[in-house]
Amino acid sequence: MDDPLTRYKAKRNFSITPEPADGGDAGDEESGAQLAFVIQKHWATRLHYDLRLELDGTMKSWAVPKGPSYDQRDKRLAVHVEDHPISYNSFEGTIPDQQYGAGKVIIWDQGTWHPLGDAQRGYEAGHLKFELRGHKMHGKWALIRLKRPTGKQDTWLLVKEKDAFIRPASEFSVVDALPDSVKGLAAPD
Ligand code: MN
Repeated sequence: MDDPLTRYKAKRNFSITPEPADGGDAGDEESGAQLAFVIQKHWATRLHYDLRLELDGTMKSWAVPKGPSYDQRDKRLAVHVEDHPISYNSFEGTIPDQQYGAGKVIIWDQGTWHPLGDAQRGYEAGHLKFELRGHKMHGKWALIRLKRPTGKQDTWLLVKEKDAFIRPASEFSVVDALPDSVKGLAAPD
């Protein structure tokens, strides 16, 4: 089977960037371990939020330019990007100039994700529904793949599903209200 990190490794020079070179041994082998999620805020050429969901021993990843919204009417563009190693979840730092993704990275949120339905099938079908249990991210969310007309980019939408956590964008922006790193905080419930 192909190394899911081939694209990740091809883009990076690990003698220069402080990012992790490989998967390491995250806790996914533990019995009963929950699936991790992380959202990294990344000041690259343009600020964006990298949403990563653990699946099949790797972090499936989407770059979300505007970040998430608790308003279920907001459909946030989420560009599917290369798988990242699970060890990337603890990465905060600055990717040096000239390197892929150069710029500062912080762990904006992290916790566990809980697929609603079969995660592998949903991922393959481009229709993932799940619950997030993080510090900032709560409740039900969906990732829906758009049809690709000519497609260089594999574009999806990140949307809040209706539940008790929804908030109108006019009264609450989670990215503006809660801008900082959660690194070092105790794991969320
Ligand atoms: Mn990024």
